[in-house]
Amino acid sequence: MVNRTAPAIAILIATLVLVNFAPAAEQSSSQIKVDDLSFYRAPTTTTPYPLPSAKKVRNVILCIGDGMGLSQITLASMKAGGLAGRLCMERMPVTGIVRTYSANSKVTDSAAAGTAMAAGIKTKNGMIGVAPDGKAYQTVLEAAKAKGMATGLVATSTITHATPASFASHVNSRATETAIAEQLIANKVNVLFGGGRKYFLPRSDPNSARKDDQDLIAEARQAGYTYVATERELHSAHSTHLLGLFQFDSLTTFAPEPNLASLTRKAIEVLRKANGKSALAEPGFFLMVEGSQIDWACHDNDPKRAIRQTLLFDQAVQAAVDFALQDGHTLVIVTADHETGGLTLLEGSKTGSDPAVRWSMKGHTSSPVPISALGPRAAIFAGIQDNTDIPRKIAGLLGITPFPRPVQ
Ligand SMILES: [Zn+2]
Repeated sequence: MVNRTAPAIAILIATLVLVNFAPAAEQSSSQIKVDDLSFYRAPTTTTPYPLPSAKKVRNVILCIGDGMGLSQITLASMKAGGLAGRLCMERMPVTGIVRTYSANSKVTDSAAAGTAMAAGIKTKNGMIGVAPDGKAYQTVLEAAKAKGMATGLVATSTITHATPASFASHVNSRATETAIAEQLIANKVNVLFGGGRKYFLPRSDPNSARKDDQDLIAEARQAGYTYVATERELHSAHSTHLLGLFQFDSLTTFAPEPNLASLTRKAIEVLRKANGKSALAEPGFFLMVEGSQIDWACHDNDPKRAIRQTLLFDQAVQAAVDFALQDGHTLVIVTADHETGGLTLLEGSKTGSDPAVRWSMKGHTSSPVPISALGPRAAIFAGIQDNTDIPRKIAGLLGITPFPRPVQ
């Protein structure tokens, strides 16, 4: 005789198991995803990359690891390549040190640090592209654009977040991401890749974070942008102005989203093409690429996520370096806006294990951060410098003068 109640009981038990254990199962699957570093290939040599013989800088790629101090880099490097290994960014031929204080604090936030690295001025924490008195200063991206160069911003946060915002907008508060979105489009930055679609959608959309009817995606299209939201759309787009918003909020940094390296490669492809079509004919581009979420992992004192985010960022640096080595006229700079968490690396339980880590805090610190460079004139980034020196040096190399200067 067939037992008819057995399947019903089995389904009931299965349901209870699913109900009770689904959150745990979900958590462990996302932990497995965080632990999976198979996407990353560590360099097979520790030899520094060569410096090119060319003297003229045509293109600048500024790579910013948000919250990425020396300990964050070393932790990721030890995990990926062992004690003697190197990340791509550790093979840069020139290295230096950057001081990061802001106008009103020893400890900067990403807005003041971004403004320092974009506009060459110290401002108060929270302010974007403006001096402490609210006066707007031209950024190195805007100055490059005014010279006829193509420009781009790539981030894994919302594209309106403090660091990318600092390069092409001017607001008194980093929290006004809807206003920042308007300025990014009005500035006609050729490439805008990141998250934050909710700041571009009109309030009639259920996912919108706007309080008005402005549809910035429609406005961007009218202004000549192609809009993309998936990796497939990204790769089939052939526009000189590309708006890629891959999430409503920040990126997940997991597939099926395009990863930061893939976004960086596409950005370079678009900018090279855009520049070839520039009527002003001053060849070259300026691109800023941010590994936004190293900072977030460090705020949470989570070493595994910090390692993963640092390796995702290093993969993007590798994409920039591969292009620069082939091009010969591209300067790649890798640095951070500040250190987050006060990360210290210790011995660990046994030889060969990952280092033990100790965090001093959940916020940012005033520890200096490393800078490294590759390409023509890279040597000017050696030594100890202020974060405001970075765009001043870039402006000097691109013949942008005077810099810094207020917006006219
Ligand atoms: Zn932070």
